[in-house]
Amino acid sequence: MRKVFIIFIALLISLNTAVANEKFEFRYNIHENLPKKWVTEFKNIMDVLQEVLPIQNNMNDYLKSPGMDIYAWKSTKNPFPEVKNNMKGSCICGDGSTRWMQLDIYPQDLSSSRNRIRTYSVIAHEYFHVYQISLSENKLSDKDTLKWLTEGGAKVLEEIYARQHYKKDLLKIDIQERQRWSIKRVTKEPHLYEKHKTSNKRGMDDNYTGSAFMVLVLVNELKKNNISEQQAFQLVFKDFWIERSKHRKWEKAFEQTFKMSAGEFYESLSKYKRKDLKKILPSKTLKIQDIFS
Ligand SMILES: [Zn+2]
Repeated sequence: MRKVFIIFIALLISLNTAVANEKFEFRYNIHENLPKKWVTEFKNIMDVLQEVLPIQNNMNDYLKSPGMDIYAWKSTKNPFPEVKNNMKGSCICGDGSTRWMQLDIYPQDLSSSRNRIRTYSVIAHEYFHVYQISLSENKLSDKDTLKWLTEGGAKVLEEIYARQHYKKDLLKIDIQERQRWSIKRVTKEPHLYEKHKTSNKRGMDDNYTGSAFMVLVLVNELKKNNISEQQAFQLVFKDFWIERSKHRKWEKAFEQTFKMSAGEFYESLSKYKRKDLKKILPSKTLKIQDIFS
């Protein structure tokens, strides 16, 4: 009996190690020009995100190599010449052979008490794209999925994160700025927001504010069907991407997840006005842990 018990314990230990080993690997390449405080916060944020939104190991297939490099720097010319020349901007970038995450941190944001939050929330934004790629089985490009759902989702998620951790509502501030996006375009020509190339004119979707508005309306419409706010966000942030992996076309995944077609959604979207924003912002108490539980 004792022997069996010991074997059982040994088995438990090995199982635990196996689970721990399965955590998707991110490699941090942090430029020395970033402030220590930012670097500490970056590591904290990554720990939270990996706990709440774990990345599946299928991600390695889409990277064509195990693990993902993250390059972070305070805006400067040619930050990592030994890796790649003239890296610029924040993105999930690729060169055909692999992909990596870039975080280009603006010094003017670091020195602004309000915009400093953006230097943190961008981490959640880019991380969420990795999560979307992994769950959807690499269906994130314009031809595969609606831009407003991809980018609007990342924008709303990063702002919920920022609101929860830094008590600042930048989503409200951004969407209220009229020059950033056009309510007329969003409600009359929502299909333009399905692709980057048809919605990237200045004042159409700056900082993805128009896309974020569409995501908030979708959540509001879902809530009308007796679905809680957390469940509605879970459908948008998680379930859709899982469903997306199962179908050739996004239209089918949309219908299966939200129980309405994109056309039906655009129809209800047309009834919204700019002033409705206040009614559809995420609850101040909403936590990402509630959404991804
Ligand atoms: Zn993005």
